[in-house]
Amino acid sequence: MFGLIGHLTSLEHAQAVARDLGYPEYADQGLDFWCSAPPQIVDHIKVTSITGQVIEGKYVESCFLPEMLATRRLKAATRKIINAMAHAQKNGINITALGGFSSIIFEKFNLDQIGRIRNIKLEFDRFTTGNTHTAYIICRQVEQAAPHLGIDLSKATVAVCGATGDIGSAVCRWLNARMDVGELLLIARDRDRLNHLQEELGRGKIMALDEALPQADVVVWVASMPKGVEIDPETLKKPCLLIDGGYPKNMGTQIQSPGVYVLEGGIVEHALDIDWRIMNIVNMNVPARQLFACFAESMLLEFETIYTNFSWGRNQITLDKMDLIGKISIKHGFKPLMLST
Ligand code: NDP
Repeated sequence: MFGLIGHLTSLEHAQAVARDLGYPEYADQGLDFWCSAPPQIVDHIKVTSITGQVIEGKYVESCFLPEMLATRRLKAATRKIINAMAHAQKNGINITALGGFSSIIFEKFNLDQIGRIRNIKLEFDRFTTGNTHTAYIICRQVEQAAPHLGIDLSKATVAVCGATGDIGSAVCRWLNARMDVGELLLIARDRDRLNHLQEELGRGKIMALDEALPQADVVVWVASMPKGVEIDPETLKKPCLLIDGGYPKNMGTQIQSPGVYVLEGGIVEHALDIDWRIMNIVNMNVPARQLFACFAESMLLEFETIYTNFSWGRNQITLDKMDLIGKISIKHGFKPLMLST
């Protein structure tokens, strides 16, 4: 049995979903209520691989909201995720993905002091961040979508916003080692971590977002921003490919401008319909088949009975692990989401 721990993108989103799912007592409540709401299993899932294998899983809504970070309710935010993990474990789930911000709040993954939640001793090897599969899928999206728009990657400038993050650093490693990319621009706020990454890669220009955007042919957005930034499409190159892997989205508004192409990053499409309703709630275009790559990682680990925290901690994603999860992803019928033409 696999699990998915998820959260909604804003208080407004959460209230609307609570109303739709038949939890009216949650629908009119403010942030304080959501801070104390317990986790809920709100979906039972069945996934069929293209090999014919069938697995089952559960979706655990953590009741975490990004506003909890924006309003410095960090303790409440961490408690939400820990309680959701305990709930998943108590329900006998073997491997659970921590979607979106669920993993980001564990700043240094120093979880030793959180050994026990009431009568449950958390077994951390039952959980994965899902970031290895997410990073792999985003790299494949760059590799496949850029040439489709006439962007020659060997001459292109690729900017990674959130470059020092878990996903961002893995994407940079892959772009550096596996793809012939003209120029790499590294964007984040902490200068020391940027210097470290630049040293590790042996290349890359450190830049502020405003400075980098007008130079980039491709922008990979994987910053952990509770709220998206506004971008003026006039300042972008044409063509420009924007791959937004943030959840909530890093880009504040949907850009519709000639020559600017926006691709939802870190999203996969399964070859067969999945029996669930949760992807309707997060507004996927094809909810029966499209999902976050991190969620797909726990499905892949369940298919292969790899019951371990495949992705864990910060900046530990290796190219070998990306290769492995990529191979399993193809084997079971997942594909990176591509631009609709
Ligand atoms: P991390 O916390 O590991 O990294 C976040 C990165 O963003 C860091 O480099 C951080 O550096 C940078 N950052 C944060 N705020 C800003 C800002 N305002 N401007 C520029 N850089 C910023 O996060 P993850 O790698 O785990 O996740 C990244 C994103 O991907 C999140 O939005 C997450 O929800 C999403 N995600 C998507 C998944 C999917 O399946 N599609 C799966 C998992 C995550 P610094 O603090 O120095 O600025």
